Amino acid sequence: MSLKITDECINCDVCEPECPNEAISQGEEIYVIDPDKCTECVGHFDAPQCQQVCPVDCIPLGQEESREVLLARYEKLTGKPAPR
Ligand code: SF4
Ligand code: SF4
Repeated sequence: MSLKITDECINCDVCEPECPNEAISQGEEIYVIDPDKCTECVGHFDAPQCQQVCPVDCIPLGQEESREVLLARYEKLTGKPAPR
């Protein structure tokens, strides 16, 4: 599941455009992350971009996933070989 947004989200919309996988969207009440699209930014950046920009620190790591799983997701989403 990678990262998740908690109910402390203030709907500021800063994280959404930062996601390289378009995994973030406005949900019913707060922003949400699609676990099938979040790679923890692996393959794109060294650190999760949404976490870096969130002004209220409400995007903790959810269920832990191995780097191999995240890289495989990157390949599925982008159609490109992952940087290993
Ligand atoms: Fe998107 Fe990266 Fe945040 Fe996952 S960690 S939701 S891929 S910005
Ligand atoms: Fe919510 Fe943080 Fe995203 Fe702003 S940056 S919309 S507070 S999760």
